[in-house]
Amino acid sequence: MSDAPARRLRQLGDVAVGNLRHVGEKRVAALNSLGIENVFDLLTLYPRRYIDRTKRVDLSDLNVGDEAAVFAQVQKVSSRRTRQGKVMVEVTVSDDDDANLKVVFFNQAWRERQLTVGVQALFFGKVTDYRAQRQMTNPVVDVIVGATGEERDASRVGRVVAIYPASGKAGLTSWEMGGFVEESLRRAGPLLDPVPDEVRRDLDLVDRTASFWGIHLPAEFSDIAPARRRLVFDEFLRLQLLLALRRRRLEESSSGVAHPINVEDLDVAPGALSTPDSTLVRRFLAGHRFTLTSAQRRVLGEIAADMSSPLPMHRLLQGDVGSGKTVVALTALLASIDGGRQGALMAPTEVLAEQHLVSIRRDLENLSIHDRSVLGGERPLSIQLLTGRLRAKERLNVLAGLANGSVDIVVGTHALLTDDVTFRSLGAVVIDEQHRFGVEQRAALREKGKERSREPIDPDLLVMTATPIPRTAAMVVFGDLDLSVLDELPGGRLAIKTVWARGDDEVAACWARVREEVARGRRAYVICPLIEGSDRVQATSAVQERDRLVEHELAGLRVGLLHGQMKGAEKEEVMARFRIGSLDVLVATVVIEVGVDVPEASVIVIEDAWRFGLAQLHQLRGRGGRDTTQSYCYLLGDPPSEDGEKRLEALVTSNDGFALAEIDLDLRGEGTLLGARQRGRSDLRLASLRRDEELLLAAQSVATTMVQGDLLSPDSDMVDELRLFVDDNEADYLFKS
Ligand code: ADP
Ligand code: MG
Repeated sequence: MSDAPARRLRQLGDVAVGNLRHVGEKRVAALNSLGIENVFDLLTLYPRRYIDRTKRVDLSDLNVGDEAAVFAQVQKVSSRRTRQGKVMVEVTVSDDDDANLKVVFFNQAWRERQLTVGVQALFFGKVTDYRAQRQMTNPVVDVIVGATGEERDASRVGRVVAIYPASGKAGLTSWEMGGFVEESLRRAGPLLDPVPDEVRRDLDLVDRTASFWGIHLPAEFSDIAPARRRLVFDEFLRLQLLLALRRRRLEESSSGVAHPINVEDLDVAPGALSTPDSTLVRRFLAGHRFTLTSAQRRVLGEIAADMSSPLPMHRLLQGDVGSGKTVVALTALLASIDGGRQGALMAPTEVLAEQHLVSIRRDLENLSIHDRSVLGGERPLSIQLLTGRLRAKERLNVLAGLANGSVDIVVGTHALLTDDVTFRSLGAVVIDEQHRFGVEQRAALREKGKERSREPIDPDLLVMTATPIPRTAAMVVFGDLDLSVLDELPGGRLAIKTVWARGDDEVAACWARVREEVARGRRAYVICPLIEGSDRVQATSAVQERDRLVEHELAGLRVGLLHGQMKGAEKEEVMARFRIGSLDVLVATVVIEVGVDVPEASVIVIEDAWRFGLAQLHQLRGRGGRDTTQSYCYLLGDPPSEDGEKRLEALVTSNDGFALAEIDLDLRGEGTLLGARQRGRSDLRLASLRRDEELLLAAQSVATTMVQGDLLSPDSDMVDELRLFVDDNEADYLFKS
C-alpha cells in the first residue's frame, strides 16, 4: 500500500461504499439514505466529538453527568421488552472495588450474547440518573477480556475514539460508522496534497493525509486541532477558488461599458457651480439638499472606479438603515445616463418601488437632459414606474419608452424581469434590499442589459442591503460581489432610544410617549405581532389591534392601517396620508419593514417584539430616527425563551447594525445565514464563520493568487478536486482552458 501512488480526493469519490468490507446491500442502502455514497463522503463525515479512553475512571468516583470510560466486569445480564416493544438489555457491571453501575441497551438484543457474565470491557458514555441509580444508556463498548479469559482487541485500548453522528433511522451506530471510516482511510493510503508546500509552510498547515488521520483516528487529543484546521482551510479554499473562477469567467465573457465619470464631480457640494453642460452627476450633487458624508463619498469613489472600467461592476453596498444609500444609487444611475444609457432600480415590494419613485422624482426634478429628438434639444429626465399594478395602457407606454430610450430611469419590482421588458441601452442596475431577491433574479436583470436591449452590454450592477452581514458571511454568501460599506450615519442624527417595556407602567409610558409625540406634530408606527398562519389571519389580527388601540390607548388620534391584504391603491393612499400627516399613527404588519422613509416618524412601537428576528427588529427600528430630533423605539412583550430575551437586550444596548449582525450570528448559528446558499457537497462542514475567520481570509488570499496567477491548469490536482463540487456543465464552463 505504501508504494501506491498518492490518491486524489476525486478518486475516492469514484469508490462506492459497497466496495468496503462488511458493507452489503442493506448497509449500502442505509449509508445512501444518509447521503453517503462513496469513500470521499465517508472521509468527510466528521466526528461529532471524541472520547478519551485513556481517562479511565473508577466506578466509585463516577458522577451523574460525567462522560467517562470505565473498565468493569459483567455481573448480571437480562433482557426484556419495554412497553413500547423495544428490546432492552440490562447489564450490571462492577469493578475491583465492588462498586456497581447499571448499563442499558435499547434495540441491541445481541448485547446479551456479547456481554455474558464474566466479560470485562470498557464502557464509554454519559452517566445519567435513573430512579436514583447511576446508569449508562447505549454506551460504546470495547470487550477487552472474554468470559473465558481470552484477551481481545487490545490494540484499541487507550486510544482517543471518534464519535460519529449515528443514525438510528438508518440503523447505523457511531461504532459502525467509525469502522467504515477507518477502513476507508487505510485503503485510501497516502493522499495527494494539492496545496503547494510553501503555502502549507506559511500557514502552518499539516498535510492532507495527516489531516484525515488526525480528525478520524487521532493518536492523541492534540492531533485533532491541527487536523481540523487544515480541513477547514481546504473547505474555504475550494469555495473561494470556485468563487474566484466564476468571477474571472464572468469578466472574460462580459462586455461591459466604461461609463464616463469625472471623479471631481463626486466632490461637488450643494451650491457649487454647474452649468447646463455639466454632467448630470455634477448638476445633481450641486443642487442636492445635503453634502455627502465621507462614507458616501468613499463608496461613490469605489463605484466610480468600477463603472469607468470596461469590466461590469458587480458590487454589494451594505449600509445600515438610514445611512443614505439612495443618493449613492441615484448618482450611479445618473452616471449611466451621462453616458447616453438608461438605469433601472429594482425594489422588493410595490410599496417600496412607489416610494422610491416619489423620492427619486423629487430629488431629480430639476434635471434635464440633452435629447436631439425633442424640440429645443432638451427635456426633463424621465423617471417611470413599472410594477404589476400598472394598467395595461400605462404599462405599454412605459415599455415603449424603455425600448426607444425616452425613459431614462425605471423603478420597479420583479415586474422588470418579465419578457416583454426591453431596453434601448441599459447601463446600470441597482437592486435595493438584495436579501429579498435570489441570485437568479439578480442574474436575470443583468441579462436584460445584454439580451433585451438594442445595445448588447452587461450593465453595471449595484446591489444594496440594509441587513448588515458580518464580513465573513458576506465573503461566503456574496463572495462573487465586491463589497462596499456605508459605516456612517448622516450628521446630526441622534441615536434612537430603545426601551424594552416589560411592566404595566412601562407599557403605559410607551403609549403616553406616542400621544406626546403626536401632540408635538410627530408620527408613530405600531407594528403588530407576527401571527402564524396566512396573510389573511395576519391581516385580521392587525385590524383587531387597530380597533382595540383606537378604543383604548390611542383614543382620539387619527390611526391608519396597513397590511398585506390591502389593495395596492389602498396601501398607497394610507402611506400618502401618513406621509403628509393626515394620519398620526400607522398600525402596520411587517409590510413596512424595509425602506419606508417618513422623517417625521419619531416613535415606533413593536408588539410582541420577541417574535421577530434581530435583523428585522433593527430594520423596523430604523423607520424612526430619520431627522435630527430624538426618536424612540418601544419593544413590547415578554419573550418565552432566553434567545428572545437576548435579542431584545441586544437591541436595547446597540444601535449598530453590524454589531447586531455579529450577535445574531452567535445566537442563531450560521446555518440560517448560509441557508441562501445552495446545499450540497460544497457546503462548509467543519468550518465555522465565527471561529475560523483567520483561515477564511488566508484561503481567500491564496485563492486570489492562484486564480490571478493562472496557477490552475485544467489538469492540475486542485482543479481535479474542484470537480467534486460542481456539476459537469459548470465544470466545463469554469475549467476550460
Ligand atoms: P437608506 O436607504 O440607506 O436607509 P436613505 O437613502 O433613505 O437611507 O437616507 C435616509 C435619510 O437620510 C433620508 O431622509 C436622506 O435624505 C437623508 N440623508 C442621506 N444622506 C444624507 C447626508 N449626507 N446628509 C444629510 N441627510 C442625508
Ligand atoms: Mg433605502
